[in-house]
Amino acid sequence: MQAPADLRTGLAGIPEGSDLRLDLTLESVSEGVLVTAKAVAPVAGECARCLEPVSDTIEVRCRELFSYEQGAGDADEEGYSLEGDLLDLEPVLRDALVLALPLAPLCRQDCPGLCVECGVLLAQAGPEHGHESAIDPRWAGLWQRMTQAEPVGPPVPETCEESGRGRP
Ligand SMILES: [Zn+2]
Ligand SMILES: [Zn+2]
Repeated sequence: MQAPADLRTGLAGIPEGSDLRLDLTLESVSEGVLVTAKAVAPVAGECARCLEPVSDTIEVRCRELFSYEQGAGDADEEGYSLEGDLLDLEPVLRDALVLALPLAPLCRQDCPGLCVECGVLLAQAGPEHGHESAIDPRWAGLWQRMTQAEPVGPPVPETCEESGRGRP
């Protein structure tokens, strides 16, 4: 089955025409036909944090009764009915798939997102990227010596400033 159009939420959707894998079980019951469907669909979207493309798959299961009765006054308006021998599964699948789409897809669970200052991808910029820690060029050399001399334990900013004061 090919995915119909408009299967998407804000940041993620199922590409139109992509391949849906369907597993259907039809059971004849007294009121109609009970359909159990399992669908696996590809999802394409944008990471909610860094806006990089994300691809994923979702799997949904739904179970719906398609009843024989049609147009009866007291019919359950929420339900589906058989049209002759046909049952139209698309609205059922559409509902299930749209509900299963991630509202905030992430390229990875711990995506660091974008730098709020400059918008760079933090995943690419590396953990050192930051603006609050921008070191005055005068201190940069010292900072390097500190971090090289003491690979274990984080450098303490205060000592750093004290010992750096007055040096060229
Ligand atoms: Zn991301
Ligand atoms: Zn930045």
